[in-house]
Amino acid sequence: MKLTFFGGAGEVTGSCLRVAAGSLNFLVDCGLFQGAMRGPDNAPARNRAAYARDLGELDFVLLTHAHLDHSGLLPRFAAARARAPLIWCTKPTADLLPVMLKDSAHIQSREANRPRGRRGRAPATEAPLYTSDDVDRLATRLIGVPYGAQFRPHPAASVRLRSAGHIVGAAFAEVELVDGRGRKRRLTVSGDLGEASPLLVSEREARADCDVLVVESTYGNRNHRPLADTEDEREALERFAADILGRVSCPGEPPAGPCLDFGGRRLLCVGGRANLVAQYRALVERAGGVFEWHDGGREEAVSRLPDLLARQDAVICPADCVSHSAYYQLKRYCKLSGTPCLMLKGSGLGSFAEGLRRLAEGRVQIGADQLE
Ligand SMILES: [Zn+2]
Repeated sequence: MKLTFFGGAGEVTGSCLRVAAGSLNFLVDCGLFQGAMRGPDNAPARNRAAYARDLGELDFVLLTHAHLDHSGLLPRFAAARARAPLIWCTKPTADLLPVMLKDSAHIQSREANRPRGRRGRAPATEAPLYTSDDVDRLATRLIGVPYGAQFRPHPAASVRLRSAGHIVGAAFAEVELVDGRGRKRRLTVSGDLGEASPLLVSEREARADCDVLVVESTYGNRNHRPLADTEDEREALERFAADILGRVSCPGEPPAGPCLDFGGRRLLCVGGRANLVAQYRALVERAGGVFEWHDGGREEAVSRLPDLLARQDAVICPADCVSHSAYYQLKRYCKLSGTPCLMLKGSGLGSFAEGLRRLAEGRVQIGADQLE
């Protein structure tokens, strides 16, 4: 049995292990390198090289979990190649993976389109490795199996995926295979391991009856903190969330707090974090307002701003998540029209709720007020 580590050994990202035994050739994980964006060993260049690397003819791929440092280069198998291998993972991972990879494709395309200053265009090496369409194609090659079920991705290999704790769907792989000398060998690859008694995912299984064990050791010199500390942190988060909601909650609705009345007024949010838009909307609607969102990014979308702005009563803009052109167009428009506009320094829920309070209380009069 020959093991080749293309990443995730001597470092913590880019996990990719090739196993060759007899005529059998398969991969466990195919992760993205993360880390320095510049310098001789920068992550984009390593990912580009890894994406194009010849891995030989693969019989199948096993995926331990959906974190990008284990899965982020899998779309290389999305290309319409007749011999592209199937990818086996747990059912929850098969559900989660396309979401994670589409996010990765989105981030890559945003990075590639980011203005590069006076010297102009981004170098060709920073073009996205894959697109959302590639992820859709890859999703057709995923096979989700239940935890603990034995399956045969190849006549010479039988596999079980067992719970590794860590995240939803995470598994370690137990592989029984026949090596080049006709001997039965048992290989276990741990992937990332979580706590023995996690709060949110299924209990990690404990097994080590194998001939060869490849084990994750990133935190091998540390113990998990006590469960009580995690519960304290969760309570602190709940208090924080209650405090934010309290700032815009209405009478009779727990948690009690001062009622902000947006009185059916329309509020446009330009920019901000896409993953928080639902919460921004909930805060505005809770205060009785009508919420619209503009991502504040791409050039073609900025041209839609004047139309959108014309029907707003107020505008809020987390200025750290907005393109330059949207930012300046917004300031100019609000100054000319007198539409109350608040630029936020942060894009978190706390500063959004505080900004909403100032707008609702009419404490923003002109078109370029900045929330400190
Ligand atoms: Zn992980």
